[in-house]
Amino acid sequence: MTSVHSSIPPQIHPAIHHFSCTMCGKCCHNLRLPLDTEEALQWLRSGGKVQVLCEAIPWPAEPDAANGLAAYKHERSVAAMSGELPVRVVITFVAAFEGACPHLRADMKCGAYETRPRVCRIYPAEVNPFVPLMPQGKACPPEAWSTSMPRMMVDGALTDAQTVTLVRRSRQAGIEDMGRKALICQHLGIFVGALANEGFAVHSPPATVLEDALAVVNGMAIDATQMQQEWIFLTNRSPTLAALQAAGALAIRPGDGLPDTIEYLAFHGDE
Ligand code: SF4
Ligand code: SF4
Repeated sequence: MTSVHSSIPPQIHPAIHHFSCTMCGKCCHNLRLPLDTEEALQWLRSGGKVQVLCEAIPWPAEPDAANGLAAYKHERSVAAMSGELPVRVVITFVAAFEGACPHLRADMKCGAYETRPRVCRIYPAEVNPFVPLMPQGKACPPEAWSTSMPRMMVDGALTDAQTVTLVRRSRQAGIEDMGRKALICQHLGIFVGALANEGFAVHSPPATVLEDALAVVNGMAIDATQMQQEWIFLTNRSPTLAALQAAGALAIRPGDGLPDTIEYLAFHGDE
C-alpha cells in the first residue's frame, strides 16, 4: 500500500499504532469540524452553523523548492498583501457546535452517517502529512489504542485503504477549494486573519448569506491567485503586534473596533 505519510521522516512515528473505535462519542462534542466547500453548503442546508477561520502567514519571498512543508502550505493558501508585507492567507470553513453535534444520537451513533463530513470518516487519522498521529492528543479513550486492536498505522502509513483514499481526497479538496474560499471572503468582506500558529480569526457571517455565496461557487473551478483586498492581522500579543507593524503589515488587537461577527481564538494568553 502506498504511504500517505511518505513525506514524514519515519523516525518521528512509533512503528505501529493499533486502533479501533469504541463508539464513545467523545469526538462528536464541542468541535470546529473542518469542511470542504461542498460539505459546508450541505451543513448549512441541514440547519447547522458554519464559521470561517482565517490565518495569515508572512510570505516575504518564495521558499526553496525543496521545502516540502512550505509547498504544502502554498498549495492551500492564497497570496495577498497586508500593508507592505506579502502574506499567504489560509481559509478554513468549519462546522461549529458546543456540546454534542446536532447529528449525534442518544446511542452515540451518527445520525447523518451516510453524509457525515469527510473529516469524521478520517478521525483519528491526520490529514496533514506534516502532523504525526499523537493518540494522547485525540479524544479516543486508551482502550481504543490497545494493542489488541487492529493495526491502524505501520511506520507512518495507514493500513486501511478507504482511509488512505479519504485522506487523499481531503488534501486535494484543500487545494481545489482555495479559489472558491478566496472569492467568498472577498464577496463577504472577510479580510482579518490571525498570525498562523498563534490563533484564528473566527468569522461568523449570517448563515443565509454564507449559504447563498457557497451555492454560487459550488462546483466552480476558480483560480486562487492574488486576493485583491488587503488583509489585517489580529493578535493578542504585543511582541507580535510590534513585529508585524515593523515589517510593514497591518495589525490590530482584539477589541480594536472589531465587529461582533469576528472573534479571536487565541492559542496563547494575552501579552
Ligand atoms: S456528523 Fe456524525 S460523526 Fe461527525 S461529529 Fe457529527 S455525529 Fe459525529
Ligand atoms: S473519540 Fe475515538 S473512540 Fe470515541 S467515538 Fe470518536 S473515534 Fe471512536
